[in-house]
Amino acid sequence: MNHDVIVIGGSYAGMAATLQLLRAHKTVLVIDAGQRRNRFASHSHGFIGQDGVNPGEIAAKARSQLQAYPTLSWIEAQASAISGQLDSFTVTTASGESHYARRILLAIGVADQLPEVKGLAERWGQSVFACPYCHGYELHRGRVGIIGSNPMSIHQAELLTEWGQVTLFVNGALAVDDQARGKLEARGVEIEEPLIDRIEGNADVVLIDGRTQRFAGLFTATRTSPASTLADSMGCVLEETPIGIQVRTGAENKTSVPGVFACGDLARVPHSVSLAVGSGAMAGAQVHRSLVWPDTMLPVQASIKSA
Ligand SMILES: Cc1cc2nc3c(=O)[nH]c(=O)nc-3n(C[C@H](O)[C@H](O)[C@H](O)COP(=O)(O)OP(=O)(O)OC[C@H]3O[C@@H](n4cnc5c(N)ncnc54)[C@H](O)[C@@H]3O)c2cc1C
Repeated sequence: MNHDVIVIGGSYAGMAATLQLLRAHKTVLVIDAGQRRNRFASHSHGFIGQDGVNPGEIAAKARSQLQAYPTLSWIEAQASAISGQLDSFTVTTASGESHYARRILLAIGVADQLPEVKGLAERWGQSVFACPYCHGYELHRGRVGIIGSNPMSIHQAELLTEWGQVTLFVNGALAVDDQARGKLEARGVEIEEPLIDRIEGNADVVLIDGRTQRFAGLFTATRTSPASTLADSMGCVLEETPIGIQVRTGAENKTSVPGVFACGDLARVPHSVSLAVGSGAMAGAQVHRSLVWPDTMLPVQASIKSA
């Protein structure tokens, strides 16, 4: 079957886009691998109407509302390749099935590269976080530890002083020069140079010198990159941001490949559910408009080189 649009990634951004397209009577196939970025967290904060709700519940409710529209198809699968061109794309899944559409919308999100600290990965989304607006308030202005990972850790440590008393663990991951040290100290940030041995308990940092520091919660600045290689393997231009790599899009959510659009964390910074939903809603309308006025489908920023 030939669909108007294949949306790859059926989380917040992809579903927000799909809703607009379904409401414009378009046929939409969503292909989703079910690996939402916030699947490690038990509560989602900062999205109006859903503050504190389990992120899986938010997604499940959205999906059930989409399923009321007869022009939706949905498969749970990993999209492994996209070929073709404007008006005749083929998406192949990992199991070898082929699906066809006039437009492609990429909403595949990003993956977080976590610092290699023993005990950190298993606490990710529970007591170790990246976004203070999402998880800072619940720490009740207690002690906050920053696990150093890259130069953004300095910015993160400064900002987190709005949420509690901050200690920055450099952990051999970044250089804190005199200027940075001055800024951190001006905001009351304590700086720890010894390496971290492990994280244990809820958010206890054990240093190799034997000391243990106990915190209400920990933060780390992750590097992000597209959750799969679909975009770059089909030639979409990527770009570097302060926190990682994303797909470059113009104001209309177009990528550098005609007929291929992108939205959500994959295509913008900063990242949150609200912003992903807003980006997806905009992308859905833009994809629809490209079907109404195909002569606007010139590639944007095609001269920009890959990151
Ligand atoms: C630990 C943690 C906690 C967070 N907490 C909050 C919070 O409290 N509040 C908040 O606003 N934000 C929070 N965020 C940020 C939020 O999770 C993201 O901004 C949001 O999920 C982005 O939505 P998205 O739809 O762009 O991408 P995602 O939610 O990451 O969804 C991408 C979807 O695409 C699918 N996919 C990827 N590749 C393929 C492929 N090749 N084929 C098929 N499907 C594919 C994935 O499986 C996934 O279902 C948190 C993030 C993390 C890491």
